[in-house]
Parts: sequence; structure tokens; C-alpha cells
Amino acid sequence: MSALMDKDIPLVDLRGVSKRFGAQAEPGSVGRVLRRVGITKAPVVTHAVDGVDLTVRPGEVVGLVGESGCGKSTLGRIAAGLLSPTEGEVHVNGAALQSLNAEQRLAARLRVQMVFQDPFSSLNPRLRVSRIVGEAARLHGLTDAAGEDDYVCAQLQRAGLDPALRHRYPHQFSGGQRQRIGIARALAVQPAMLVSDEAVAALDVSIQAQILNLFMDLRDQLGLAYLFISHDLGVVEHLCDRVAVMYLGRVVESAPVEELFARPNHPYTQALLAEIPRFESRRTRFNTIRGEIPSPINPPSGCHFHPRCPQAMPRCSVEAPKLRGIAVHHQSACHLNDTP
Ligand code: SF4
Repeated sequence: MSALMDKDIPLVDLRGVSKRFGAQAEPGSVGRVLRRVGITKAPVVTHAVDGVDLTVRPGEVVGLVGESGCGKSTLGRIAAGLLSPTEGEVHVNGAALQSLNAEQRLAARLRVQMVFQDPFSSLNPRLRVSRIVGEAARLHGLTDAAGEDDYVCAQLQRAGLDPALRHRYPHQFSGGQRQRIGIARALAVQPAMLVSDEAVAALDVSIQAQILNLFMDLRDQLGLAYLFISHDLGVVEHLCDRVAVMYLGRVVESAPVEELFARPNHPYTQALLAEIPRFESRRTRFNTIRGEIPSPINPPSGCHFHPRCPQAMPRCSVEAPKLRGIAVHHQSACHLNDTP
């Protein structure tokens, strides 16, 4: 397991990952009747993620941003092992998940844990907090029945919750406390990385700050890495080392956080950043990206952003631009970078 400690090996390395979801074109009773009489339509396919490469290294905080429906939550679930990709490979600590046996695959999956946006729906309301936090750790041999209570108390303390509350049920806690329970449950299996999927979006602003501070304290104490999925670019700028911008299933730009915010290259990134309200600008009106994000069921040809891009050229609707280096550690997928 020496690979687990190697800083040069990505904790998670997604290679050419795609995810498509299929559904019957005619669901429900109408569809059943049509199928019974032999009339079937091609299934509806949603292209949630399309050929994404993404790495997260030990201790690194990578932000994943983009509008709702761009595929960032699906990509986060693939990184956390909750979804399998339709195409591409997921490597954890340098090993392809597909190449591991069942025991090794489980160990790899425990290294990456997910923290969800809605802590209440992700906690079993019938279980006491002690069981919610301790169960997986005991199942995976990280503690035994005799040591479980102390182990649970230690995880709750790490997550900033009073261990004396461990015999209560989830409904007896506030939203912020429930999020801390979710974090304690994730920490209990000793992960190396957390995937935070809009984990603070549903909380009051003051509680958001507390949870974000907790994330950063855990990074300092445990060397945790994060894939931080958020629509809040202000938080991403404050928290992350590197940012990947997604649009309709594809990563369109990736760069260190200072570089991306100082020199956004892709027209979509530029539009996203122009939407951030900044106090110093004293603006009373904010720019918005024109139009709505198209359906991933039938994405536009070529560059998916071309129907909304103010700089689109004829080539853009035909040819998908490749993500390529435009500066050190800075990649962008736009045909404008080919134009002299
Ligand atoms: Fe706009 Fe064309 Fe660049 Fe896409 S490739 S972002 S449409 S200029």
C-alpha cells in the first residue's frame, strides 16, 4: 500500500470517462401497450458526461464548476465510485478499478467518500447517529464492537459535533449539524478524499462558513483531498487549488485557481466569471449568459457552447474543439486558440 502515500500518484484519475443514461422513449402504461403490440421507439439517451479527463492528487482541492445540468454531480459520483462510467477508466491510487479484485476494489472505493447537498435525505432517519457513523467502520474492520463507541465519539469530535449527542436521531439536529454527521460518517472509513457535491448550498451563510472552515481544517489535519463541486465561484476561488469548468458533459477549461480567475480563456468561463457579483465593482446589474443550457439528450453539434457563444464561428457548429494546453497547467477547449 505504499502507493497510498505517493504524492506523485493521483488519488483519483478519470481517463476519457463518459456516462450515458438510457430510458424508454415511451415510459409508463402507454409505453407498455405500444411495446406489447410491437411498437418500440429508440430509447432516450442522456449524455451526462462526455470523455472527461480529471485528476485529483493527494491533499489537492479541485473545484468543479458549471451550470446546473452540466454533468458535474454525475462526474462526482463516478469519482466516488457510486456510478460506473459507460466508457473510460477510473484509476484510484494508480490502479484501474477494473483491474482490481472485489476486495481491492472495495478498499479503493473507501478511499473516496461523498458528502451530499441534502444531509437529511442521506441519513437514515430510523438510525441513531452512533450507528450511522459507526456501522461502516465496524463492517470494514476499522473498529470492533468493543471499540466502536470510542471510535464514533472521535469521528464526531473531528467533525465538530458534541459526542454526547450520538444517541439522538437525525431529525433532532439542525441542518448544519446534520451535515457534520454526514462528514463524520465519511471520515469514519478513513478516506483520503472527499467529494463534496454542493455540500453547503442548502445551509445558511454563517453555517456555510463553519462547514467550509471544517473542510479546510480536515485538509490540514488529515491531508484530505477534495473534489469540490459548486456553483458558487466565490467559494471556489477562496478554497480551491485548481478548477475545472464543465459545460454540457465536457470539461471546457482547467487551470490553477489564480490563473483561471485572472485569465479565463474559454468564452463560457469568461461568461460565468462575469456573472459573479463583486462588491468593489459597485454594479447594480450583472451580466448573464444568454440562453439556457441545452438538453443533454440532444446536445448541439461541434462545440456544445456554440448556440450561446458570442464569438462562435462557422467551424464551431461542426467540429468539437479539443482540450489542449494554452499555458503552463492551463487547458482550454476553444477554436479561438487556433486562430492566429
Ligand atoms: Fe465559442 Fe467556438 Fe470557442 Fe465554442 S469553439 S467557445 S463556439 S468560439
